[in-house]
Amino acid sequence: MDEIGCRIHVLAIPYPLQGHLNPMLQLCKRLTSKGVRITLVTITSARISVQNQFESIQIEYILDDDNIEAEGSNDSEKGAAHFKRIQIAVSDNLAKLVEEKASSGHPVNIVLYDSMMPWILEIVQGQLGLKGAAFFTQACAVSAIYNHIHRGTLKVPLETSTILLPSMPQLESNDLPSFVYNPGPYPGVLDLVLGQNINLEKSDWLLFNSFDKLENEVVTWLTERYPIKTIGPSTPSMYTDKRLKDDKDYTINFFTPDSGACLKWLDTKETGSVVYVSFGSMSDLGENQMQEIACGLMNSNCNFLWVVRPSEESKIPRDFMSETEERGLIVNWCPQPKVLSHRAVGCFMTHCGWNSTIEALSLGVPMVTMPVWADQTTNSKYIVDVWKVGLRVKASEEREMVTREEVERTIREVMHGEKASELRSNALRWKELAKEANSEGGSSDKNIEEFVSSVESTHSLS
Ligand code: UDP
Repeated sequence: MDEIGCRIHVLAIPYPLQGHLNPMLQLCKRLTSKGVRITLVTITSARISVQNQFESIQIEYILDDDNIEAEGSNDSEKGAAHFKRIQIAVSDNLAKLVEEKASSGHPVNIVLYDSMMPWILEIVQGQLGLKGAAFFTQACAVSAIYNHIHRGTLKVPLETSTILLPSMPQLESNDLPSFVYNPGPYPGVLDLVLGQNINLEKSDWLLFNSFDKLENEVVTWLTERYPIKTIGPSTPSMYTDKRLKDDKDYTINFFTPDSGACLKWLDTKETGSVVYVSFGSMSDLGENQMQEIACGLMNSNCNFLWVVRPSEESKIPRDFMSETEERGLIVNWCPQPKVLSHRAVGCFMTHCGWNSTIEALSLGVPMVTMPVWADQTTNSKYIVDVWKVGLRVKASEEREMVTREEVERTIREVMHGEKASELRSNALRWKELAKEANSEGGSSDKNIEEFVSSVESTHSLS
Protein backbone atom coordinates (compact mmCIF):
# COMPACT_ATOMS: atom_id res chain seq x y z
CA MET A 1 0.00 0.00 0.00
CA ASP A 2 1.20 3.53 -0.64
CA GLU A 3 1.03 6.28 1.95
CA ILE A 4 -2.70 7.06 1.59
CA GLY A 5 -3.54 3.41 1.60
CA CYS A 6 -3.94 2.72 -2.13
CA ARG A 7 -3.26 -0.84 -3.25
CA ILE A 8 -1.81 0.06 -6.64
CA HIS A 9 -1.39 3.07 -8.91
CA VAL A 10 -2.87 2.85 -12.41
CA LEU A 11 -2.00 5.35 -15.11
CA ALA A 12 -4.93 5.36 -17.54
CA ILE A 13 -4.71 6.67 -21.09
CA PRO A 14 -8.07 6.85 -22.89
CA TYR A 15 -8.27 7.64 -26.57
CA PRO A 16 -9.46 11.27 -26.64
CA LEU A 17 -12.97 10.81 -28.01
CA GLN A 18 -16.12 10.98 -25.88
CA GLY A 19 -17.06 7.37 -26.62
CA HIS A 20 -13.62 6.14 -25.47
CA LEU A 21 -13.12 8.50 -22.56
CA ASN A 22 -16.44 7.74 -20.85
CA PRO A 23 -15.95 4.00 -20.36
CA MET A 24 -12.28 4.39 -19.33
CA LEU A 25 -13.18 7.04 -16.77
CA GLN A 26 -15.96 4.81 -15.47
CA LEU A 27 -13.60 1.86 -15.12
CA CYS A 28 -11.24 4.16 -13.22
CA LYS A 29 -14.04 5.13 -10.84
CA ARG A 30 -14.74 1.45 -10.16
CA LEU A 31 -11.04 0.84 -9.60
CA THR A 32 -10.91 3.60 -6.99
CA SER A 33 -13.63 1.77 -5.08
CA LYS A 34 -11.20 -1.18 -4.88
CA GLY A 35 -8.51 1.01 -3.35
CA VAL A 36 -6.66 1.97 -6.53
CA ARG A 37 -4.97 5.31 -7.12
CA ILE A 38 -5.60 6.62 -10.64
CA THR A 39 -3.81 9.09 -12.83
CA LEU A 40 -6.00 9.70 -15.86
CA VAL A 41 -4.22 11.22 -18.81
CA THR A 42 -6.30 13.30 -21.17
CA ILE A 43 -4.83 14.28 -24.49
CA THR A 44 -6.62 17.43 -25.32
CA SER A 45 -7.01 20.87 -26.68
CA ALA A 46 -8.55 23.17 -24.07
CA ARG A 47 -12.20 22.53 -24.89
CA ILE A 48 -13.18 19.76 -22.47
CA SER A 49 -15.12 20.33 -19.26
CA VAL A 50 -13.99 18.37 -16.22
CA GLN A 51 -15.87 17.91 -12.95
CA ASN A 52 -13.80 15.41 -11.06
CA GLN A 53 -15.25 14.60 -7.67
CA PHE A 54 -13.14 11.48 -7.09
CA GLU A 55 -10.25 12.23 -4.76
CA SER A 56 -8.13 9.30 -5.82
CA ILE A 57 -8.40 10.19 -9.53
CA GLN A 58 -5.87 12.77 -10.58
CA ILE A 59 -6.15 14.19 -14.06
CA GLU A 60 -3.05 15.04 -16.07
CA TYR A 61 -3.16 16.80 -19.40
CA ILE A 62 -1.06 16.19 -22.44
CA LEU A 63 -1.77 19.10 -24.68
CA ASP A 64 -2.62 18.64 -28.31
CA ASP A 65 -3.02 21.70 -30.51
CA ASP A 66 -6.00 20.13 -32.27
CA ASN A 67 -5.38 22.03 -35.46
CA ILE A 68 -7.21 19.43 -37.54
CA GLU A 69 -8.20 21.78 -40.33
CA ALA A 70 -4.60 22.25 -41.35
CA GLU A 71 -3.91 18.56 -41.63
CA GLY A 72 -5.75 17.04 -44.51
CA SER A 73 -8.16 17.66 -47.30
CA ASN A 74 -10.64 14.90 -46.36
CA ASP A 75 -11.88 13.05 -43.27
CA SER A 76 -9.60 10.12 -43.87
CA GLU A 77 -6.43 12.26 -44.05
CA LYS A 78 -7.51 14.34 -41.07
CA GLY A 79 -8.20 11.18 -39.06
CA ALA A 80 -4.76 9.76 -39.88
CA ALA A 81 -3.07 13.06 -38.96
CA HIS A 82 -5.02 13.21 -35.69
CA PHE A 83 -3.89 9.70 -34.83
CA LYS A 84 -0.28 10.50 -35.61
CA ARG A 85 -0.36 13.63 -33.46
CA ILE A 86 -1.72 11.67 -30.52
CA GLN A 87 1.00 9.08 -30.93
CA ILE A 88 3.67 11.79 -30.87
CA ALA A 89 2.10 13.58 -27.89
CA VAL A 90 1.93 10.39 -25.79
CA SER A 91 5.36 9.11 -26.86
CA ASP A 92 6.95 12.46 -25.95
CA ASN A 93 5.32 12.75 -22.53
CA LEU A 94 4.71 9.32 -21.04
CA ALA A 95 8.17 8.59 -19.62
CA LYS A 96 8.32 12.04 -18.02
CA LEU A 97 4.91 11.59 -16.43
CA VAL A 98 5.82 8.19 -15.02
CA GLU A 99 9.07 9.63 -13.61
CA GLU A 100 7.21 12.52 -11.98
CA LYS A 101 4.81 10.11 -10.30
CA ALA A 102 7.69 8.03 -8.97
CA SER A 103 9.50 11.06 -7.59
CA SER A 104 6.31 12.30 -5.91
CA GLY A 105 6.21 9.02 -3.98
CA HIS A 106 3.46 7.34 -6.01
CA PRO A 107 5.16 5.09 -8.54
CA VAL A 108 2.94 3.82 -11.33
CA ASN A 109 2.38 0.04 -11.28
CA ILE A 110 0.53 -0.42 -14.52
CA VAL A 111 -0.57 1.54 -17.58
CA LEU A 112 -4.16 1.01 -18.71
CA TYR A 113 -4.39 2.04 -22.36
CA ASP A 114 -7.13 2.17 -24.98
CA SER A 115 -6.81 -0.81 -27.32
CA MET A 116 -6.90 1.60 -30.28
CA MET A 117 -3.39 2.73 -29.27
CA PRO A 118 -1.52 -0.61 -29.15
CA TRP A 119 1.83 1.16 -29.66
CA ILE A 120 1.59 2.38 -26.06
CA LEU A 121 2.39 -1.15 -24.88
CA GLU A 122 5.82 -1.04 -26.53
CA ILE A 123 6.69 2.11 -24.61
CA VAL A 124 5.27 0.73 -21.39
CA GLN A 125 6.89 -2.69 -21.46
CA GLY A 126 9.99 -1.90 -23.53
CA GLN A 127 11.03 1.55 -22.40
CA LEU A 128 9.48 1.90 -18.96
CA GLY A 129 9.64 -1.72 -17.77
CA LEU A 130 6.02 -1.57 -16.59
CA LYS A 131 3.00 -3.80 -17.13
CA GLY A 132 0.23 -2.86 -19.55
CA ALA A 133 -3.51 -3.57 -19.70
CA ALA A 134 -5.46 -2.98 -22.90
CA PHE A 135 -9.02 -1.69 -22.56
CA PHE A 136 -11.50 -2.44 -25.35
CA THR A 137 -14.40 0.00 -25.66
CA GLN A 138 -16.33 -2.00 -28.25
CA ALA A 139 -18.55 -5.08 -28.00
CA CYS A 140 -16.77 -8.43 -27.59
CA ALA A 141 -18.56 -9.54 -30.77
CA VAL A 142 -16.90 -6.71 -32.68
CA SER A 143 -13.50 -7.59 -31.22
CA ALA A 144 -14.07 -11.21 -32.25
CA ILE A 145 -14.90 -10.16 -35.83
CA TYR A 146 -11.68 -8.12 -36.04
CA ASN A 147 -9.84 -11.09 -34.57
CA HIS A 148 -11.17 -13.40 -37.29
CA ILE A 149 -9.89 -11.00 -39.94
CA HIS A 150 -6.54 -10.82 -38.18
CA ARG A 151 -6.29 -14.63 -38.07
CA GLY A 152 -7.42 -15.00 -41.68
CA THR A 153 -10.59 -16.93 -40.79
CA LEU A 154 -12.60 -14.08 -42.30
CA LYS A 155 -11.25 -12.70 -45.57
CA VAL A 156 -11.50 -9.06 -46.60
CA PRO A 157 -12.73 -8.19 -49.21
CA LEU A 158 -15.60 -10.44 -48.18
CA GLU A 159 -16.10 -13.52 -50.33
CA THR A 160 -19.74 -14.21 -49.43
CA SER A 161 -22.73 -12.09 -48.55
CA THR A 162 -23.66 -14.31 -45.60
CA ILE A 163 -21.10 -14.73 -42.86
CA LEU A 164 -20.94 -17.65 -40.44
CA LEU A 165 -18.55 -17.23 -37.54
CA PRO A 166 -18.35 -19.39 -34.42
CA SER A 167 -20.30 -18.13 -31.40
CA MET A 168 -22.19 -15.55 -33.46
CA PRO A 169 -25.56 -15.42 -35.17
CA GLN A 170 -25.57 -15.64 -38.96
CA LEU A 171 -24.52 -12.21 -40.21
CA GLU A 172 -25.18 -10.49 -43.50
CA SER A 173 -22.15 -8.65 -44.84
CA ASN A 174 -23.61 -5.30 -43.83
CA ASP A 175 -24.08 -6.48 -40.25
CA LEU A 176 -20.29 -6.45 -39.96
CA PRO A 177 -18.55 -3.19 -38.98
CA SER A 178 -18.74 -0.80 -41.95
CA PHE A 179 -14.94 -0.70 -42.29
CA VAL A 180 -15.08 -4.41 -43.13
CA TYR A 181 -17.81 -4.48 -45.77
CA ASN A 182 -17.12 -0.99 -47.12
CA PRO A 183 -13.56 0.17 -46.33
CA GLY A 184 -13.71 2.60 -49.29
CA PRO A 185 -14.34 5.93 -47.56
CA TYR A 186 -11.85 5.25 -44.72
CA PRO A 187 -9.14 2.96 -46.08
CA GLY A 188 -6.77 3.46 -43.11
CA VAL A 189 -9.37 2.82 -40.44
CA LEU A 190 -9.66 -0.91 -41.06
CA ASP A 191 -5.91 -1.25 -40.41
CA LEU A 192 -6.33 0.82 -37.30
CA VAL A 193 -9.12 -1.28 -35.81
CA LEU A 194 -7.37 -4.50 -36.79
CA GLY A 195 -4.26 -3.15 -35.03
CA GLN A 196 -6.03 -3.88 -31.75
CA ASN A 197 -5.12 -7.53 -32.33
CA ILE A 198 -1.36 -7.14 -32.34
CA ASN A 199 -1.07 -7.01 -28.57
CA LEU A 200 -3.54 -9.70 -27.61
CA GLU A 201 -0.72 -12.08 -26.70
CA LYS A 202 1.66 -9.43 -25.35
CA SER A 203 -0.59 -7.28 -23.19
CA ASP A 204 -0.54 -8.27 -19.51
CA TRP A 205 -4.32 -7.89 -19.14
CA LEU A 206 -7.23 -7.51 -21.60
CA LEU A 207 -10.29 -5.72 -20.26
CA PHE A 208 -13.59 -5.32 -22.12
CA ASN A 209 -16.52 -2.98 -21.55
CA SER A 210 -19.17 -5.66 -21.67
CA PHE A 211 -20.54 -8.28 -19.28
CA ASP A 212 -20.50 -12.05 -19.46
CA LYS A 213 -24.23 -12.71 -19.68
CA LEU A 214 -24.71 -10.11 -22.40
CA GLU A 215 -22.24 -11.75 -24.78
CA ASN A 216 -21.99 -15.18 -23.26
CA GLU A 217 -20.99 -17.23 -26.32
CA VAL A 218 -18.53 -14.79 -27.79
CA VAL A 219 -16.97 -14.13 -24.38
CA THR A 220 -16.43 -17.89 -24.07
CA TRP A 221 -14.91 -18.01 -27.56
CA LEU A 222 -12.51 -15.16 -26.73
CA THR A 223 -11.69 -16.54 -23.28
CA GLU A 224 -10.64 -19.87 -24.81
CA ARG A 225 -8.01 -17.95 -26.80
CA TYR A 226 -7.03 -14.96 -24.70
CA PRO A 227 -7.15 -14.12 -20.99
CA ILE A 228 -9.92 -11.54 -21.33
CA LYS A 229 -11.96 -10.02 -18.52
CA THR A 230 -15.29 -8.23 -18.94
CA ILE A 231 -15.66 -5.29 -16.59
CA GLY A 232 -18.84 -3.54 -17.80
CA PRO A 233 -21.29 -2.08 -18.19
CA SER A 234 -19.53 1.22 -17.62
CA THR A 235 -22.84 3.04 -17.07
CA PRO A 236 -22.52 5.21 -13.93
CA SER A 237 -22.96 3.12 -10.81
CA MET A 238 -26.00 5.02 -9.48
CA TYR A 239 -28.01 3.63 -12.43
CA THR A 240 -26.94 0.01 -11.91
CA ASP A 241 -25.57 -1.32 -8.61
CA LYS A 242 -25.66 2.06 -6.76
CA ARG A 243 -22.47 1.31 -4.83
CA LEU A 244 -20.50 4.42 -5.92
CA LYS A 245 -22.56 7.21 -4.43
CA ASP A 246 -20.85 10.02 -6.36
CA ASP A 247 -21.13 8.27 -9.69
CA LYS A 248 -24.16 9.73 -11.47
CA ASP A 249 -22.69 11.34 -14.56
CA TYR A 250 -19.90 11.30 -17.06
CA THR A 251 -17.66 13.96 -15.64
CA ILE A 252 -15.40 14.78 -18.56
CA ASN A 253 -17.34 16.22 -21.46
CA PHE A 254 -16.35 17.50 -24.87
CA PHE A 255 -19.73 19.28 -25.02
CA THR A 256 -21.54 21.12 -22.24
CA PRO A 257 -24.60 19.18 -21.10
CA ASP A 258 -27.87 21.09 -20.94
CA SER A 259 -28.88 19.24 -17.77
CA GLY A 260 -31.37 21.56 -16.11
CA ALA A 261 -33.52 22.32 -19.13
CA CYS A 262 -33.95 18.81 -20.42
CA LEU A 263 -34.60 17.15 -17.07
CA LYS A 264 -37.13 19.82 -16.14
CA TRP A 265 -38.80 19.34 -19.50
CA LEU A 266 -38.87 15.54 -19.06
CA ASP A 267 -40.49 16.00 -15.64
CA THR A 268 -43.50 17.57 -17.34
CA LYS A 269 -44.08 14.60 -19.65
CA GLU A 270 -46.07 11.44 -19.05
CA THR A 271 -44.33 8.20 -18.18
CA GLY A 272 -42.98 6.40 -21.25
CA SER A 273 -44.14 9.11 -23.64
CA VAL A 274 -40.82 10.53 -24.90
CA VAL A 275 -38.55 9.35 -27.71
CA TYR A 276 -34.98 10.28 -26.82
CA VAL A 277 -32.93 10.77 -30.01
CA SER A 278 -29.15 10.98 -30.20
CA PHE A 279 -26.54 10.05 -32.76
CA GLY A 280 -23.59 10.37 -30.42
CA SER A 281 -20.58 12.65 -30.43
CA MET A 282 -19.33 12.28 -33.98
CA SER A 283 -22.00 11.42 -36.53
CA ASP A 284 -22.47 13.83 -39.37
CA LEU A 285 -25.79 13.09 -41.08
CA GLY A 286 -26.70 14.76 -44.36
CA GLU A 287 -29.10 17.66 -44.31
CA ASN A 288 -31.77 15.67 -46.16
CA GLN A 289 -31.45 12.82 -43.67
CA MET A 290 -31.82 15.22 -40.73
CA GLN A 291 -34.96 16.63 -42.35
CA GLU A 292 -36.44 13.16 -42.78
CA ILE A 293 -35.76 12.42 -39.10
CA ALA A 294 -37.35 15.72 -38.08
CA CYS A 295 -40.49 15.01 -40.12
CA GLY A 296 -40.66 11.41 -38.90
CA LEU A 297 -40.52 12.63 -35.30
CA MET A 298 -43.18 15.22 -35.98
CA ASN A 299 -45.50 12.69 -37.67
CA SER A 300 -45.02 10.05 -34.95
CA ASN A 301 -47.02 12.27 -32.62
CA CYS A 302 -44.72 11.30 -29.75
CA ASN A 303 -42.89 13.69 -27.48
CA PHE A 304 -39.22 13.85 -28.34
CA LEU A 305 -35.95 15.06 -26.87
CA TRP A 306 -33.34 15.33 -29.63
CA VAL A 307 -29.63 15.93 -29.11
CA VAL A 308 -28.34 17.99 -32.03
CA ARG A 309 -24.73 19.08 -31.62
CA PRO A 310 -23.98 22.71 -32.54
CA SER A 311 -22.28 21.64 -35.78
CA GLU A 312 -25.51 19.89 -36.88
CA GLU A 313 -28.03 22.56 -35.96
CA SER A 314 -28.17 24.22 -39.34
CA LYS A 315 -29.47 20.96 -40.84
CA ILE A 316 -32.78 21.12 -38.95
CA PRO A 317 -35.71 22.52 -40.99
CA ARG A 318 -36.16 26.20 -40.19
CA ASP A 319 -39.64 26.15 -38.66
CA PHE A 320 -39.36 22.73 -37.12
CA MET A 321 -39.06 23.80 -33.50
CA SER A 322 -41.85 26.34 -33.59
CA GLU A 323 -44.12 23.78 -35.24
CA THR A 324 -43.38 21.12 -32.62
CA GLU A 325 -42.88 23.35 -29.58
CA GLU A 326 -45.49 21.52 -27.52
CA ARG A 327 -43.98 18.11 -28.02
CA GLY A 328 -40.30 18.51 -28.67
CA LEU A 329 -37.07 19.81 -27.22
CA ILE A 330 -33.72 20.04 -28.97
CA VAL A 331 -30.54 20.35 -26.89
CA ASN A 332 -26.88 20.42 -27.92
CA TRP A 333 -25.84 17.77 -25.37
CA CYS A 334 -27.47 16.15 -22.35
CA PRO A 335 -26.54 13.97 -19.37
CA GLN A 336 -27.47 10.82 -21.33
CA PRO A 337 -27.62 8.24 -18.50
CA LYS A 338 -29.84 10.59 -16.48
CA VAL A 339 -32.11 11.07 -19.50
CA LEU A 340 -32.28 7.37 -20.34
CA SER A 341 -33.20 6.53 -16.77
CA HIS A 342 -35.95 9.18 -16.61
CA ARG A 343 -39.43 7.64 -16.26
CA ALA A 344 -40.72 9.78 -19.17
CA VAL A 345 -38.43 8.15 -21.75
CA GLY A 346 -40.19 5.39 -23.69
CA CYS A 347 -37.55 4.60 -26.27
CA PHE A 348 -34.14 5.62 -27.56
CA MET A 349 -33.57 6.35 -31.23
CA THR A 350 -29.84 5.71 -31.47
CA HIS A 351 -26.92 5.42 -33.88
CA CYS A 352 -25.86 2.37 -31.81
CA GLY A 353 -22.47 3.58 -30.62
CA TRP A 354 -21.31 0.94 -28.14
CA ASN A 355 -21.68 3.22 -25.10
CA SER A 356 -25.18 4.28 -26.05
CA THR A 357 -26.07 0.63 -26.68
CA ILE A 358 -24.79 -0.67 -23.37
CA GLU A 359 -26.27 2.30 -21.50
CA ALA A 360 -29.72 1.65 -22.98
CA LEU A 361 -29.43 -2.06 -22.17
CA SER A 362 -28.37 -1.41 -18.60
CA LEU A 363 -31.13 1.16 -18.12
CA GLY A 364 -33.82 -1.03 -19.66
CA VAL A 365 -34.75 1.25 -22.57
CA PRO A 366 -36.01 -0.21 -25.89
CA MET A 367 -34.36 1.16 -29.01
CA VAL A 368 -35.05 2.34 -32.54
CA THR A 369 -31.74 1.64 -34.22
CA MET A 370 -30.28 3.72 -37.01
CA PRO A 371 -26.64 2.68 -37.38
CA VAL A 372 -24.49 4.99 -39.44
CA TRP A 373 -20.99 3.48 -39.68
CA ALA A 374 -18.15 1.71 -37.80
CA ASP A 375 -19.28 -1.00 -35.33
CA GLN A 376 -22.78 0.51 -35.08
CA THR A 377 -24.11 -1.91 -37.72
CA THR A 378 -23.02 -4.93 -35.69
CA ASN A 379 -24.36 -3.46 -32.46
CA SER A 380 -27.69 -2.86 -34.20
CA LYS A 381 -27.81 -6.50 -35.36
CA TYR A 382 -27.36 -7.67 -31.76
CA ILE A 383 -29.88 -5.15 -30.38
CA VAL A 384 -32.54 -6.36 -32.81
CA ASP A 385 -31.87 -10.07 -33.27
CA VAL A 386 -29.89 -11.26 -30.26
CA TRP A 387 -30.93 -9.10 -27.32
CA LYS A 388 -34.32 -8.39 -28.92
CA VAL A 389 -34.67 -4.92 -27.44
CA GLY A 390 -35.17 -2.83 -30.55
CA LEU A 391 -36.19 -2.47 -34.18
CA ARG A 392 -34.08 -1.04 -36.98
CA VAL A 393 -35.16 1.62 -39.43
CA LYS A 394 -34.49 0.47 -42.97
CA ALA A 395 -32.95 2.77 -45.52
CA SER A 396 -34.82 3.28 -48.77
CA GLU A 397 -32.56 1.97 -51.55
CA GLU A 398 -34.11 4.36 -54.00
CA ARG A 399 -33.49 7.45 -51.87
CA GLU A 400 -30.34 6.10 -50.18
CA MET A 401 -31.54 7.27 -46.78
CA VAL A 402 -34.09 6.52 -44.10
CA THR A 403 -37.39 8.16 -45.00
CA ARG A 404 -39.70 10.06 -42.67
CA GLU A 405 -42.34 7.33 -43.11
CA GLU A 406 -39.89 4.70 -41.91
CA VAL A 407 -38.84 6.81 -38.92
CA GLU A 408 -42.48 7.37 -37.98
CA ARG A 409 -43.45 3.71 -38.50
CA THR A 410 -40.57 2.32 -36.43
CA ILE A 411 -41.02 4.78 -33.57
CA ARG A 412 -44.73 3.94 -33.39
CA GLU A 413 -43.93 0.23 -33.46
CA VAL A 414 -41.40 0.43 -30.63
CA MET A 415 -43.49 2.81 -28.52
CA HIS A 416 -46.96 1.29 -28.96
CA GLY A 417 -46.93 -1.50 -31.55
CA GLU A 418 -47.48 -5.23 -31.20
CA LYS A 419 -43.91 -5.86 -30.13
CA ALA A 420 -43.65 -2.94 -27.70
CA SER A 421 -44.31 -4.85 -24.50
CA GLU A 422 -41.99 -7.71 -25.48
CA LEU A 423 -39.18 -5.23 -26.26
CA ARG A 424 -39.75 -3.49 -22.95
CA SER A 425 -39.75 -6.66 -20.90
CA ASN A 426 -36.58 -7.89 -22.65
CA ALA A 427 -34.96 -4.53 -21.95
CA LEU A 428 -35.87 -4.78 -18.28
CA ARG A 429 -34.32 -8.24 -18.13
CA TRP A 430 -31.00 -6.88 -19.47
CA LYS A 431 -31.22 -4.08 -16.95
CA GLU A 432 -31.37 -6.63 -14.14
CA LEU A 433 -28.47 -8.63 -15.58
CA ALA A 434 -26.35 -5.49 -15.97
CA LYS A 435 -26.99 -4.61 -12.36
CA GLU A 436 -26.10 -8.15 -11.31
CA ALA A 437 -22.78 -7.99 -13.21
CA ASN A 438 -21.77 -4.76 -11.44
CA SER A 439 -23.05 -5.69 -7.98
CA GLU A 440 -20.83 -7.17 -5.32
CA GLY A 441 -19.74 -10.64 -6.42
CA GLY A 442 -21.18 -10.16 -9.95
CA SER A 443 -19.09 -11.22 -12.94
CA SER A 444 -17.67 -7.77 -13.72
CA ASP A 445 -17.14 -6.88 -10.08
CA LYS A 446 -15.21 -10.12 -9.56
CA ASN A 447 -13.16 -9.50 -12.70
CA ILE A 448 -12.20 -6.01 -11.53
CA GLU A 449 -11.23 -7.37 -8.13
CA GLU A 450 -9.17 -10.15 -9.74
CA PHE A 451 -7.46 -7.64 -12.01
CA VAL A 452 -6.46 -5.44 -9.06
CA SER A 453 -5.31 -8.42 -6.98
CA SER A 454 -3.21 -9.79 -9.79
CA VAL A 455 -1.53 -6.43 -10.48
CA GLU A 456 -0.96 -6.11 -6.75
CA SER A 457 0.63 -9.53 -6.48
CA THR A 458 2.82 -8.99 -9.56
CA HIS A 459 3.92 -5.72 -8.00
CA SER A 460 4.70 -7.19 -4.58
CA LEU A 461 6.73 -9.99 -6.24
CA SER A 462 8.83 -7.60 -8.32
N1 UDP B 1 -23.61 11.29 -24.58
C1 UDP B 1 -23.93 12.22 -23.61
N2 UDP B 1 -24.81 13.21 -23.95
C2 UDP B 1 -25.37 13.31 -25.18
C3 UDP B 1 -25.04 12.34 -26.15
C4 UDP B 1 -24.16 11.34 -25.82
O1 UDP B 1 -23.46 12.15 -22.48
O2 UDP B 1 -26.13 14.23 -25.39
C5 UDP B 1 -22.65 10.22 -24.21
C6 UDP B 1 -23.31 8.87 -24.21
O3 UDP B 1 -23.92 8.64 -22.95
C7 UDP B 1 -22.14 7.96 -24.52
C8 UDP B 1 -21.21 8.82 -25.37
O4 UDP B 1 -21.62 10.16 -25.19
O5 UDP B 1 -21.50 7.58 -23.32
C9 UDP B 1 -21.29 8.50 -26.84
O6 UDP B 1 -20.64 7.30 -27.06
P1 UDP B 1 -21.18 6.25 -28.14
O7 UDP B 1 -20.25 5.09 -28.09
O8 UDP B 1 -22.61 5.95 -27.92
O9 UDP B 1 -21.10 7.03 -29.50
P2 UDP B 1 -19.94 7.86 -30.24
O10 UDP B 1 -20.07 9.25 -29.77
O11 UDP B 1 -18.61 7.24 -29.85
O12 UDP B 1 -20.29 7.69 -31.67
